[in-house]
Formats: sequence, structure tokens, C-alpha cells
Amino acid sequence: MSVRPETTSRKIVYIEEFDKRDIDGSLLCRNIGCKNHPRLPYRKYCSKKCNKEFRHWYYHNFYWERVRSDVFKRDNYTCQICNRSYPYRYHRRFDRSRKLECDHIIPRSLYEQNGYKFDTLENKIKTTLEFFHNHNNLRTLCSDCHKRVTSKYLSIKLSIPRSM
Ligand SMILES: [Zn+2]
Ligand SMILES: [Zn+2]
Repeated sequence: MSVRPETTSRKIVYIEEFDKRDIDGSLLCRNIGCKNHPRLPYRKYCSKKCNKEFRHWYYHNFYWERVRSDVFKRDNYTCQICNRSYPYRYHRRFDRSRKLECDHIIPRSLYEQNGYKFDTLENKIKTTLEFFHNHNNLRTLCSDCHKRVTSKYLSIKLSIPRSM
């Protein structure tokens, strides 16, 4: 059994995890609270409405690339420490996303210390919405500031004595 360090294992709620079945074991519409069976042309949804509703909710809350770009937009593509900004007209999209990074104010790795769990689907949803992808815990930083903040955090963390 290999043990991956907590800091490198990404905590992701995959879209398939929302699949649910009726008592006979056949697949139900993926949308939360919907008890219809999927209907063609959809394999996982009963209707265009459920498909649209669920996918919108999922991508804005669980898909990191999307959450990150929502935070960049909220912060007007500006580093929240040094105020350097990367307006769209000066940089192409990929260039900009290379220079800006989305920082967790309280680091992700501290989720357990903050009373969150990542075991059941219910807990995964709660932890993701309230902690990992909570916009209030996220801010836009340039890569230089992000590096500085991260190394400062690491040095603080490393300075804590390992045992009494
Ligand atoms: Zn449905
Ligand atoms: Zn900066």
C-alpha cells in the first residue's frame, strides 16, 4: 500500500459520484432530487432542464478550473497582495492563467483541523462547497506573491515541533 502525502492528493468530487439508482438498480436522473429515469438523447439525465441545471451547478462548484476562473474574474484579474493586474487585452487567455494563481487563504490541507471530512459523498459536497471551493477562502495572487505566501506557510508549518 502506498501512502501519498496529504498535500499532493487532490480532493475531487467527480461528476459520476452523483449517479444514483432506484431500488431495482436502474440508473436515475443525475440531477439532485430528481427521481425520473434518464431519457434519450441523454444517458444520465431525464430532460434538457435537468441536464442544464445539474451541469451548471456542478461546474461552478466542483470543477476547479471553473471555480478558479470565477475567482479571477471577481478579483478583476488583479493580485490581491501587490495589485499587479493582468487585463485581458494585454495577455492572451493562457498567458494570463499562467501568471495568476488562485490561493487558498486557509490552506486546503487544514480541512480536518477545520472540522471537515472527505469520506461520504455528503461530506465531500459540504467540504468542497464550504471550504475548498468557497470563494471567501479564495483569492487571486500573481505567481511571485503566491510563491512567497506558500513558502512562508511551509516554513511556519515546518517550525512546529513534531513531538512534545
Ligand atoms: Zn431529471
Ligand atoms: Zn502579486
